[in-house]
Amino acid sequence: MNVQLSRRSLLKAAGAGVVVTSLGALGFEAAEAAVAAHVRPFKLANTTETRNTCTYCSVACGVILYSRGDVRKGERAELIHVEGDADHPTNLGTLCPKGAALKDFVRAPTRLQYPMIRRPGSDRFERVSWDVALDRIARLMKDDRDRNFIARNADGLAVNRWTSTGMLAASATTNETAWATFKVAKGLGIVGFDNQARV
Ligand code: SF4
Repeated sequence: MNVQLSRRSLLKAAGAGVVVTSLGALGFEAAEAAVAAHVRPFKLANTTETRNTCTYCSVACGVILYSRGDVRKGERAELIHVEGDADHPTNLGTLCPKGAALKDFVRAPTRLQYPMIRRPGSDRFERVSWDVALDRIARLMKDDRDRNFIARNADGLAVNRWTSTGMLAASATTNETAWATFKVAKGLGIVGFDNQARV
């Protein structure tokens, strides 16, 4: 029989079966049955594996997110485990302490998951839609740029600088997204442009 197993499937199968098959080979069938009855179910069984990138720094290690809940059936996916991606060329399965604690970051009750605004004079933040947030950001950026854009310096040379607004972007992203983000910032003339890659 020709059985096809991926490396990950092989490791799972080997881990679950090694105890009982060893006992069986030694002739301890009753012990084998007792062990089998008390083996905890493999905690990653029936989970969905999703490849992703660690959000913390520009090393951009590959991670595998294990979740329960089928989003195709309208269920909410619940993240239950995160581990380094052994097939990723950057980290080969390893994670630093920040990456290893990624699940706590994702599930933290204090994690910001939607736009919030604190209106003038208010002492609290309130939730707003993405449309409201993006319209407000665009309005404020436009007004500030119209007021402060510097097209030419004192010598008349074209400089196209906008120094009164800055942009913070994310480094843990794809090359394409980084390219598009940089183009937007520099196309607007933004000088103060940075990300969280300084680890
Ligand atoms: S924070 Fe750690 S695990 Fe995450 S990308 Fe950076 S080095 Fe990798």
